[in-house]
Amino acid sequence: MITLRGLTKRFGATVAVDALTVDIAPGRVTGFLGPNGAGKSTTMRMILGLDRPTSGTALVDGRSYRELRRPLHEVGALLDARAVHPARSGRAHLLAMARSNGISARRVDEVLDTVGLDGSAAAKPGRTLSLGMGQRLGIAGALLGDPPVLMFDEPVNGLDPDGVRWVRHLLRSLAGQGRTVFVSSHLMSEMQLTADQLVVIGRGRLLADAPVGDVIAGS
Ligand code: ADP
Ligand code: ADP
Repeated sequence: MITLRGLTKRFGATVAVDALTVDIAPGRVTGFLGPNGAGKSTTMRMILGLDRPTSGTALVDGRSYRELRRPLHEVGALLDARAVHPARSGRAHLLAMARSNGISARRVDEVLDTVGLDGSAAAKPGRTLSLGMGQRLGIAGALLGDPPVLMFDEPVNGLDPDGVRWVRHLLRSLAGQGRTVFVSSHLMSEMQLTADQLVVIGRGRLLADAPVGDVIAGS
């Protein structure tokens, strides 16, 4: 469960996220829909403790990110441009993440397999990976700690149609396992196929929080 209460972020005069109050429940895919610049990434960064709220709170299972004892085991995330280290190989990146979080090398190979990065792709330096491969690597990182809460920021960017279907299937199955799945997109058409619930924002403000069918009917 992700709990946002009056979550607000200002960058100078820009109100990137404006008093967002939402519960993101387990066992379903919650789509986070809004145009570019709406505040989706900033919201996710605050949930992960990477941006500090100007006011309000973002909690994962009742605790702020800083209070999580084993963060990678409690929340996994794919955020833009975080996945790929230019020089390190994908596998080395995941091994480093695993090592500093008490996770085995075997688990690294397991998640690489889950995302379909085979031995040679996983051995390439980050800078040589395609966008789609980078996305898969980032998703592998999110899954590493087997967390109950997962966030994906525009996960289908750069993926081919097979990759898009694969991500959709993965998100559905993670939710089916009872996990909280929070996924951002600027594409209603994509969210319609992937999400159960939709949280819609524009200019940082909550515009809707409803089952996906209701949002379509009302739009
Ligand atoms: P989205 O993910 O929905 O595209 P963002 O959260 O990236 O939106 O951005 C929301 C708003 O905050 C935009 O106006 C963006 O320009 C601004 N913004 C985001 N990060 C910063 C930053 N580090 N400094 C200044 N403005 C920022
Ligand atoms: P750096 O590249 O500066 O070493 P890291 O990428 O290791 O930083 O991560 C910084 C913080 O973000 C850490 O607290 C880490 O637990 C968290 N973090 C990094 N990647 C993920 C992820 N995929 N899911 C959840 N938390 C992550």
